[in-house]
Amino acid sequence: MARFATRVTSIESSPTVRLGNLVAEMRARGEEVLSLSVGEPDFPTPAHIVQAAKEALDAGLTKYTPSLGIRELREAVARKSKEENGIPATADDVLVSPTKHTLYLACMALLESGDEAILPDPGWVSYEPMVRLAGATPVAVRAADDEGFVPTPDAVAEAITPKTKVLVLNSPSNPAGSVIPRRTMEGLADLARDHDLVVVSDEIYERILYDGEHVSPAALDGMFDRTVTVNGFSKTYSMTGWRLGWAVAPKPILREMGKVQEHTVTCATSFAQKAGVAALQGPQEPVEAMVREFRARRDLICAELSKIDRADCFRPGGAFYAFPRLDVPTDSATLSERLLKEAKVAVTPGRAFGAAGEGHLRLSYAASRETIVEAVRRLGELVAGM
Ligand code: PMP
Ligand code: GLU
Repeated sequence: MARFATRVTSIESSPTVRLGNLVAEMRARGEEVLSLSVGEPDFPTPAHIVQAAKEALDAGLTKYTPSLGIRELREAVARKSKEENGIPATADDVLVSPTKHTLYLACMALLESGDEAILPDPGWVSYEPMVRLAGATPVAVRAADDEGFVPTPDAVAEAITPKTKVLVLNSPSNPAGSVIPRRTMEGLADLARDHDLVVVSDEIYERILYDGEHVSPAALDGMFDRTVTVNGFSKTYSMTGWRLGWAVAPKPILREMGKVQEHTVTCATSFAQKAGVAALQGPQEPVEAMVREFRARRDLICAELSKIDRADCFRPGGAFYAFPRLDVPTDSATLSERLLKEAKVAVTPGRAFGAAGEGHLRLSYAASRETIVEAVRRLGELVAGM
């Protein structure tokens, strides 16, 4: 009989991925489900990106690449980071891997037993398990409705102890679509410098931005040396299945992350990396068109939710999630279960994103306008009867 390590028994499977699997199974059984669950753009990967991968395959790019990634892609990422984000990166500061894996590499390289990592609450479902897998202790900082879903420097300062090593930031955020304003980011950077913390900045929704500006902490004074910037192709270029992203980090951190990469996945998929180059260097119109549509859907979902008396919705400034609070006499897990069973609408319970997410549902509006309108109508109908 296998006995399992506490590192795995202490974590749960991913609620977002699990729900995605469940919807796929229900559909395979012939059930019709409206899904506002998993966060995945409902657009095809732009054709010129797919073409670049086909050409790479035909050219025989089917072997290992250097573990940190092909030079061309590392250079393209460095250029993008400098030009768009003001991050003083060179190709030598770039590691290519699936986005989620780069976060895991950062946790493995930076954290160990006895260390603490500060995470936003609510925050994306995988930060806490990754910190635990690295043997460290996650410390949730409330970043809820009353704070516009942004971790304030005051709240973070209160959570810092001599054991704090890492501060995880995510703007625009999953699950609320909140955007960290420049002043707040500067305050958080001051704390990182004063307390010798490494900031792990997850910027995967950077380009899916409607209001405000995107601020990369690594671009702020003196922050490059203590920041791991994580980004990827999944959302911006609708490339979730390609499993491709990157981390930009100062060389000492990158070296340690690179060791873990070499002993785990070796390198990212060779021909996908060529597609990554085409994505960064090719035409950006498909991204702009997708973001225009997401903006219209953001407006639509906010308008539809405002028709539900018992829903109170924060207006997201980025990403493709709405995170309304529902005033109902049940918890978010039960509400989302009932919604799926009784109304055939899949959403993610707010509690999946942390204690401060309780009372909310996350609705991914990476779905057609008709699906959004009908799903929110069914939600309204269900809560009206509660
Ligand atoms: N960070 C956040 C905030 C996310 O929502 C996701 C979800 N995909 C990821 C990282 C992981 O991205 P990828 O699928 O590119 O690994
Ligand atoms: N990040 C997306 C989500 O939150 C995809 C699933 C996952 O990686 O968690 O739904």
